[in-house]
Amino acid sequence: MQVFNSIKEIQQWSLQNKKQGKTIGLVPTMGYLHNGHLSLVREARKQCDIVIVSIFVNPIQFGVNEDFDEYPRDIQRDQLRLEAEKADAIFAPAIKEMYPGGYNTYVEVLGEIPGKLCGSRRPGHFRGVTTVVSKLFNICLPDKAFFGQKDAQQALIVEKMVKELNFPLEIVRVPIVREEDGLAMSSRNVYLDHEQRHEALILWQALQKAQESIRSGETNVETVRRQIKQMIVACPQAQIDYIEIYNASDLADLQKIRGQVLIALAVKFGSTRLIDNLIVEV
Ligand code: AMP
Repeated sequence: MQVFNSIKEIQQWSLQNKKQGKTIGLVPTMGYLHNGHLSLVREARKQCDIVIVSIFVNPIQFGVNEDFDEYPRDIQRDQLRLEAEKADAIFAPAIKEMYPGGYNTYVEVLGEIPGKLCGSRRPGHFRGVTTVVSKLFNICLPDKAFFGQKDAQQALIVEKMVKELNFPLEIVRVPIVREEDGLAMSSRNVYLDHEQRHEALILWQALQKAQESIRSGETNVETVRRQIKQMIVACPQAQIDYIEIYNASDLADLQKIRGQVLIALAVKFGSTRLIDNLIVEV
């Protein structure tokens, strides 16, 4: 497995691979890899000849009061895990490689999809994501790029960007990987203390309960949101950021629950903000 820090070098390497007729799969990550990330890598391994995993904690997608400095990093451990998965290359650029002095070009998807959920709570976050992802696409030249359903809104925004800017690649979405007890895997789970880790199970429990109630005929959005809220507020440390139910394909508001709906949660436990979601088909 090769490790690249230079844009020029990996771009040339990708170009050579493409000239030899090989397909390239890209898995963009911020590192501190867990099994959720690795399921993306495995899917890329299945679908593409060459697998590139980017590891870059992207400063421009963090707000000023967010956890950029604390974000967990362990490139050595990541490297071992990716070797075991038979990835072909890691791209781990320094910040100044991606954003040299005077950098001033951004890519932003506008409209309803980025205006909701995390987009309305984390100003500039998705602009940072779409900018770095566009750069990674131009640098690594993937045929397919793999994104997790864990970040459902991010996947929708990246898909829209790829379509509207005509990037010549396909976005592949991979299901959420959970711990045995149901907690969605996240690099941020390491911030949780014992009690918070236990309380955080309520997210998956509340999503499942909501699914049950929808499947048994509940169509009222407010009723289901209230059920979820009741469960979460019973946890002493939980502070709800949002509980929302939208159309899964475009985040449109719903009069009634029908079709494919996305139930999306963001809840803080102490200073750790966790997100989770579930798509329910009615
Ligand atoms: P991150 O390193 O958090 O930026 O995540 C990199 C990619 O891994 C994103 O496409 C995430 O949606 C995906 N991902 C993160 N956690 C999970 C998970 N538990 N299951 C599936 N995909 C995940």
